[in-house]
Amino acid sequence: MENNEVVNMEWDGFVDQPKVATLLRNSILHKRVAHAYLFVGSQGVGKMKLAAQYAKALLCQQAEAGNPCQQCHHCQRIDSGNHPDLHLILLDGASIKIDQIRQLQKALSFRAAESSRNVYIIEHADKMTVQAANSLLKFLEEPVYQITALLLTEHIHQILPTILSRCQIVYFDELPFEKRVATLVSEGFFEPIVRNACKITADLAEARELCQTEQFAQYRNLMIQLSEDILEKGSYVLVTLQEKALKTEQGNQGLPLMLDLLLYWYRDVLFFQIDRKSELVNIDQMEAIQRQALRCSKSWILKGIEVVYFFK
Ligand SMILES: [Zn+2]
Repeated sequence: MENNEVVNMEWDGFVDQPKVATLLRNSILHKRVAHAYLFVGSQGVGKMKLAAQYAKALLCQQAEAGNPCQQCHHCQRIDSGNHPDLHLILLDGASIKIDQIRQLQKALSFRAAESSRNVYIIEHADKMTVQAANSLLKFLEEPVYQITALLLTEHIHQILPTILSRCQIVYFDELPFEKRVATLVSEGFFEPIVRNACKITADLAEARELCQTEQFAQYRNLMIQLSEDILEKGSYVLVTLQEKALKTEQGNQGLPLMLDLLLYWYRDVLFFQIDRKSELVNIDQMEAIQRQALRCSKSWILKGIEVVYFFK
């Protein structure tokens, strides 16, 4: 395990995933550690960090109240990535191959060298080849001595049912909105675009994809223009939306996105009126939002939102 993947903290420190942290900690406190877990969650929600913490808590010989001590030679060897009883399987190219699983099986065929159990972590478990997954199945269940498997995935639907049925499934929460925004802004994306994308989807990878799509920014510009048109001419302008969509490269496929963007636009206008400005999405459009907020009544905006939903 890489040093930077490991965090030195107690379970309470995992503020983004309190449910998962409590569940894992309780499994240790109540001695109900499962043979195999499947950690399911979007990229960046902390699956590997919690897997490392769990491995430490399981292997540490001086754990107190389920918390690893962070100081014994087990904890230190996990931190430095060379604990003989913790096995980490990462992608080899685009997949996890049968040879990697065979090697793991071989390593597990020896009793834990230093502690009372073996722990293995398979990152991107959905990327196992069918052969690799079938090979894993042979020893995933009913190990002869204490082995704990931690499978990590962003795509539970791509996990074989036979694997699923042998794992305790642990769902991770999505990251809070502001954290997702901060992550994508730090990657260089334009914040108003990021805020829209992170409202439309809670999945960080999907939001990133939206930010990378050129049309997404175009759609937003179209929406801002449309909101001005609606203000001048009334909501029947919405019937031109399909026309507008068809003129874009993606044609009608972009329509749902455009409607989402319009909804968040009206949400902004509404939030401006009720003085919740810190929650605005289109933070670069304060002037236009203010102008529309001053001209429209709340009920008019709510009606507008209703109309947009009708088109969705
Ligand atoms: Zn320790």
